[in-house]
Amino acid sequence: MAGRTVNVFYDEVMLGHNPEVDLPYLPSRVEKRVRHILDGLDFKWSYPEHPGRVSAIKTYLDEHPIPGVHFRTGPKASYKQLARVHTSAYLDYLFSLAGKRAWLDSDTTAVSPDSIDAAVMAAGLAIAAVESVVNGKAGSAFALVRPPGHHAEPVRARGFCLINNVAVAAAHAHAKLGCERILIIDWDAHHGNGTQDIFWADPSVLFFDTHCAAPFYPGSGDLEEVGAGLGEGYTINVPMAESSGDVAFEKAFRDILIPAADQFKPDLILVSAGFDPHRNDLAMNLTYDGFKAITAIVQGIADKHCKGKLAFVLEGGYNLTSLSRGVHSVLEVLTGGKVPKVSEIGIKEVESAAEFHLSAFTDDE
Ligand SMILES: [Zn+2]
Repeated sequence: MAGRTVNVFYDEVMLGHNPEVDLPYLPSRVEKRVRHILDGLDFKWSYPEHPGRVSAIKTYLDEHPIPGVHFRTGPKASYKQLARVHTSAYLDYLFSLAGKRAWLDSDTTAVSPDSIDAAVMAAGLAIAAVESVVNGKAGSAFALVRPPGHHAEPVRARGFCLINNVAVAAAHAHAKLGCERILIIDWDAHHGNGTQDIFWADPSVLFFDTHCAAPFYPGSGDLEEVGAGLGEGYTINVPMAESSGDVAFEKAFRDILIPAADQFKPDLILVSAGFDPHRNDLAMNLTYDGFKAITAIVQGIADKHCKGKLAFVLEGGYNLTSLSRGVHSVLEVLTGGKVPKVSEIGIKEVESAAEFHLSAFTDDE
């Protein structure tokens, strides 16, 4: 369908999160050993989740504008909004780090003086994205935010994530916007352990997560992890092989997500959209066509069950080219662009080579 609008939420406050890796780390033998090796190689490791990620996307979207995409900003999240998914003990600790530099977690999460402002803005823009689709201001929305959120648990930061943005947005939609059945789809290459934890026993949220199977970080997301208590059956994990590409992703969405959504009948859909499953990033083999195909499936579910109410929240993606073009591909489909047919990687090239060569070996008569 052509002529759809997408509100994209962005704010430069989020560029203020810029941890320095030279900061003394949590003391450990591994840390000493790694620093020793890096010193010997004269190689400077830099923090992979850096401000250039979102500014690269913004620049690419400015240079390759898509009709129907409108940039917006919004307010920071309030303490009360964050406290729906994080404990006050954790939030008080996080806010005490404002203006400081520190490592929060041994698995790569650090802060710079303006990080807390950036994180609270990211969560606020995820809320603004949800409000814009629920209030009917745009067909869909994309919160172009960082730091990412899906590894952040109720009581701790993990894996570059401070606040679980998509969970804050879902909890807000449930508490304030009248949404009672929220589908969260997480297609980042890493399992969304934080989101899973937060809604583990909550039947108002159906969590569907495709990811590179353990032992890939963070190591969770087995098939058997299906939720508990009232929430049993409302967590769906699809651990995938590292070689998985467009065909495998489309199959997971078509054969598992669509029937699950048909039974759950969501009234709002959120997507934790990571672009690290792209073949040029650190794991898996999706192409831009693959991102378009799974976006179209998600949009189809939103059209069928919830009048198209669909909001995306950025998660990972560290190769700046595939990250920028990946977001662009998703927005093209959301605004009504064409959806390509996907095939195994390499098949399209062989098909066009066959077309090129075949006439040479075929009689004209
Ligand atoms: Zn990731």
